[in-house]
Amino acid sequence: MHYQIYCEKCGIELTDKISAGKKCPECNGSLRFRYDYNKIKGQVIRKDLPGIWKYINLLPVSKDSNFITYSEGETPLLRSNNLAKKLGLRELFIKDETQNPTGSFKDRAAAVSLTKAVEFKKDLVAIGSGGNAAAAAAAYAARANLDCFVFLPATTPMERVAQSLIYGAKVIRVKGSINDAIKLISKYQDEFDWYELTTAKPLNPYQGEAVKTIAFEICEQMKGVVPDWVITPVGGGGILSQCWKGFNEYKQLGLIDSLPKMAGVQPAGCAPLIKAFDDKCKPDEIKVWEGKPESIAVTIADVFPIDGEAALSAIYESGGVAEKTTDEEIIEAMKLMAQNEGVFAEPAGAAPLAAVKKLRDKGIIGSDETVVVVATGHGLKDLNAVVSNVKRPPILESEEELPVIVKRYLG
Ligand SMILES: [Zn+2]
Repeated sequence: MHYQIYCEKCGIELTDKISAGKKCPECNGSLRFRYDYNKIKGQVIRKDLPGIWKYINLLPVSKDSNFITYSEGETPLLRSNNLAKKLGLRELFIKDETQNPTGSFKDRAAAVSLTKAVEFKKDLVAIGSGGNAAAAAAAYAARANLDCFVFLPATTPMERVAQSLIYGAKVIRVKGSINDAIKLISKYQDEFDWYELTTAKPLNPYQGEAVKTIAFEICEQMKGVVPDWVITPVGGGGILSQCWKGFNEYKQLGLIDSLPKMAGVQPAGCAPLIKAFDDKCKPDEIKVWEGKPESIAVTIADVFPIDGEAALSAIYESGGVAEKTTDEEIIEAMKLMAQNEGVFAEPAGAAPLAAVKKLRDKGIIGSDETVVVVATGHGLKDLNAVVSNVKRPPILESEEELPVIVKRYLG
């Protein structure tokens, strides 16, 4: 095996067979992965493999596996000259994760977790998610020919459930929160022997490793130049903490010589990690968000970030920040990104750009700095958010009106 699994708490090494579970069997600690970086040096990338799989030397997947894949990863890093100018930045790049097969970065996680499900010879998989991770798991389960159960809150709008349903997922709507839905998967684990895919490290440690390939790709695409800032949305906190791990691994491998500052963004109507940062809490002191989460960015409105401890640690270690954005700022950022660069992100995917504007205004991001924002998911997933925030276009009642309307558009 080219990777080691160890317990973060007691340090013991585990075999892959034992760690088909989620936690250390000795002390219930979280499972982590390490690789032989000295051995990998000089041969990090397998050029014969596509997408995220070219980083197989840094993924906890057997090299003999039949990868469950359909071209996830290798998403564009778009230099955004128009927006950089507008925001008064030296350089701005959009890591365009909307281009993944089911329209979000969660495809990276699903590719690895479904490959592991097949490695572990599981017949059933289950995931707790009302958002992009469910759709990704359902699609990859279809390719793996496995039955996929999706548990989500009954309040999840049907247009967000539809994508999972069309891929054939068996959806169960739970009267309660996403955390209640996730608890049910664990409770019935023994009875149904399903392999949990929920995209949080304590629930499936393997899938998180896939997400760090976003950082590897940014390093490759910037040809070893390290951006000053990498800004991601925070729901559970997995993308921020795993990108940080990715940059650290690339530094350890001698492929970059510095590290970016990490900034995490949450909606103002559900911002437990931002509150912890503002209150100068320790990473393990994040509290559950009190009250009903309220935001247009439903995919990141998690009342408690399950990977928040790792995310807040990454923010502190990197010298970064946490920032919240209102729905109005998110909608403005969606329009800015779409109208200036042609990238149509869902509200959560536009939140980092909304934060750039605020952090520039506060002087936290300097005009001479280079910023990468991660646009995590596609706007087509959430058309309702758009329809209610755009003007209805005019209907042409007679041809004579046409020049008037065109001129009105041209101002
Ligand atoms: Zn342990």
